[in-house]
Amino acid sequence: MEVNVETGVTLESTPERKCRCDCCGKLMDHTNALCSGIAAMSFNYCNDCARKDLEPYSVLVPYFAGTLWRDLTAYWQNIIRESCEVNGHTLEQFHKDCDDYMESCRRWSDKLIKD
Ligand SMILES: [Zn+2]
Repeated sequence: MEVNVETGVTLESTPERKCRCDCCGKLMDHTNALCSGIAAMSFNYCNDCARKDLEPYSVLVPYFAGTLWRDLTAYWQNIIRESCEVNGHTLEQFHKDCDDYMESCRRWSDKLIKD
């Protein structure tokens, strides 16, 4: 058992030693890094989120920004809907964040062309 010599607190009992699910934010006792289903990146997934193929909100927005909802399969609509729910986001917020992301990309692109 590791003990912080300054505080005497066992490191296992401190929040810093816990891992957080990148989808729902749940604290876990150990890392559960798995490959994302939409990007060549790994994130921490709790068992519930991994079982449902959920994705971190911070990945959903840039990946699906610019894609029309009606063009998504029911599978991806469900993944997005459930991933938003576990994050406390609404679908309306998701669509707004996608629009904002696309607008920031346009501004960045315009700036590159001008400079
Ligand atoms: Zn989770």
